Amino acid sequence: MFQKILIANRGEIALRVLRACKELGIQTVVVHSTADSDAMHVRLADESVCIGPPPSRESYLNIHQIVAACEITGADAVHPGYGFLSENAKFADILAAHNITFIGPSGDHIRIMGDKIEAKRTAKRLGIPVVPGSDGAISDEKQAKRIAAEIGYPVIIKASAGGGGRGMKVARTEADLEVALHTAKSEAGAAFGDDAVYIEKFLEKPRHIEVQVFGDGAGHGVHFGERDCSLQRRHQKVWEEANSPALNTEERSRIGGICARAIADLGYSGAGTIEFLYENGEFYFIEMNTRLQVEHPVTEAITGIDLVHEQIRVASAAGLSVRQEDIKFTGHAIECRINAEDPRTFTPSPGTITHFHTPGGLGIRVDSGVYSGYRIPPYYDSLIGKLIVHGRNRVECMMRLRRALDEFVVDGIKTTLPLFRDLVGNADIANGDYDIHWLEKFLAKGD
Ligand code: ADP
Repeated sequence: MFQKILIANRGEIALRVLRACKELGIQTVVVHSTADSDAMHVRLADESVCIGPPPSRESYLNIHQIVAACEITGADAVHPGYGFLSENAKFADILAAHNITFIGPSGDHIRIMGDKIEAKRTAKRLGIPVVPGSDGAISDEKQAKRIAAEIGYPVIIKASAGGGGRGMKVARTEADLEVALHTAKSEAGAAFGDDAVYIEKFLEKPRHIEVQVFGDGAGHGVHFGERDCSLQRRHQKVWEEANSPALNTEERSRIGGICARAIADLGYSGAGTIEFLYENGEFYFIEMNTRLQVEHPVTEAITGIDLVHEQIRVASAAGLSVRQEDIKFTGHAIECRINAEDPRTFTPSPGTITHFHTPGGLGIRVDSGVYSGYRIPPYYDSLIGKLIVHGRNRVECMMRLRRALDEFVVDGIKTTLPLFRDLVGNADIANGDYDIHWLEKFLAKGD
């Protein structure tokens, strides 16, 4: 087991990882920018190292500074959290070259899954169902037209190097295709420095369902069920649940089994999430994230298993603490991402939190790095906390969520709490009846 882990992140996830390290008796080092000197994770860590000024590029993304912090403090492993360097293959390789363990998969696996065309090809080879479309990058308009005619309109053009929903264009007819292809290519070139695009069937009303997987790096794979993250705004997840209201036990174990086998065959090590669009009973792979997800606590709530413990175990070659048959799903969990944003316009609302009171009681978890008197710096993402609620079934979970949202107080800044109070009272949400476009339509109606 590791002696000392360096946490290369900030905010609620840095605190989340720190808690797991403390439970396992592992010393902690955190790195931070000058804007985060008074952050909660810096206060609670055994050691902290200031690695640079506020801009992420000069601090949380600064590989040299982070490696230097490992050398100075004698950390033997790095947990990257999510975002920042968590899916940076070069970072994983550099750490390996310095004999520091990256708590995550190999650089090669990160690389494969970071390239969407390569990821899709790999998924297909491993028996994971994929969206019908081109086998690789589209070379010209003629080829695009031929493939679109084969799979049928509407189609979507996507950037190979894509991320955050950028570089995507829908074509409903052959007449739209030319423009869609050119705009997707130029957006992709501008955003990612790589204008390779591919084509897929556009699904009209899918749900976003993702499977949590783990590989032990020694040829074993397990799945921890799925999460439904269909409630999104601008491709950003807002509300996540486990299990999905749309799946039954049979579908769950079928798709979970496919994913676990794929992970085993890949020889994958650590946590991963295989994301699907789900429509009319069919799953369509869209991408795999090779890291811990923001929404992992809903899986922890229904399985009772600490996924960060498992990440640390696997990275230290101690292996997973569970086999597939040990993983049971109990009850239902929902996570609300609470952002420091205006609940109507979603413009960021940094500033000082004058009063912060979190709900409590049975089945409530709040993961947050903020506190009363904390000043939110304007440099980073606006997530200030996650409310995770667990109940014996979805109805109980929703009742508890409503109560927890009533108790939650954040004064001094605007937050998205009012949005969740609206959602919890909505009939479609109560019925679990929503797809990936539902939230955007709901928000448009409110204007
Ligand atoms: P990114 O990496 O940019 O987030 P994804 O491939 O994960 O790109 O897709 C982001 C979102 O775009 C999905 O969650 C979904 O809302 C939409 N999307 C992607 N592919 C399709 C498709 N074939 N049909 C319909 N919507 C899609």
